[in-house]
Amino acid sequence: MTQPLSVAILGASGRMGRALVDATLRNDRLTLSGAVERSGNPSIGIDAGVMVGQSASGVPVSDQLSEVIRAAAVVVDFTAPGATLAALEACTAAGTPIVIGTTGFTPEQKLLIAQAAQSIPLCIAANYAIGVNVALKLVELAARTLGSDYDVEIVEAHHRHKVDAPSGTALAFGEAAAAGLDRDLLSNAVYGREGQTGARKRETIGFATVRGGDVVGDHTVLFLGDGERLEIAHRATNRANFANGALRAAAWLVGKPAGLYSMRDVLSLND
Ligand code: NAD
Repeated sequence: MTQPLSVAILGASGRMGRALVDATLRNDRLTLSGAVERSGNPSIGIDAGVMVGQSASGVPVSDQLSEVIRAAAVVVDFTAPGATLAALEACTAAGTPIVIGTTGFTPEQKLLIAQAAQSIPLCIAANYAIGVNVALKLVELAARTLGSDYDVEIVEAHHRHKVDAPSGTALAFGEAAAAGLDRDLLSNAVYGREGQTGARKRETIGFATVRGGDVVGDHTVLFLGDGERLEIAHRATNRANFANGALRAAAWLVGKPAGLYSMRDVLSLND
């Protein structure tokens, strides 16, 4: 029998960190080797399993980043950009592969990530939900096949606490449609409509945003033609979908050559 893969979770007490600790402990092919939080976080010293409502895992939440990274076969990071860059340094020094779920990097930070990927295997994705990544591929295919006779509109809904709009995932759907149509998203995107807007321009890719309640994340891409419409929709019901996708990426990444990978690589969606 193959040994379970040892995974370290960074940002362990955060919303995603807890979902990742929980999913790692439930996965027979993985073992939790470390759980990191920033110094001073109230979770430091607490057993990671107990923190997520499971039995004791024997892994206390720690602020010893380098030590935890050295002990892991692969690291999963859902923290904040500054913390991710510190983790990257430690991963590069230890030669440990890393899955990055953190979002909000500046272009300069993205360059540092690309540089690190020259020496370690590194996977980064704005959305690790497996269904979303399949839907992105379907949207590109639909856009390419339906062509410019169909109007593309994207509707997304998220909980009342979300501070940015449209969501990064909605933009990724826009990029996928634009790629299928050989269009530039930046010059064709319309973010909401109001008042005397005039008739819809054919090349437009429209976005509409809904905010409220506890919606984890809904996305629908509409292809509106004459006499028919196609809708490609994804609904996230909890954070386990991101966690399971990120852990799938982690298992896939171990043993790969150094490089910058995405969920398209993990799910073999590149063709
Ligand atoms: P959160 O604020 O609940 O959790 C972040 C955690 O990181 C916190 O517990 C914080 O204490 C910890 N942290 C901050 N600095 C740290 C450091 N130096 N060392 C260790 N831990 C540190 O946020 P969240 O909702 O869990 O999201 C985290 C990130 O993941 C965000 O960037 C979010 O946009 C992103 N995210 C990505 C996906 C995806 O699929 N790619 C899905 C959901 C969230």
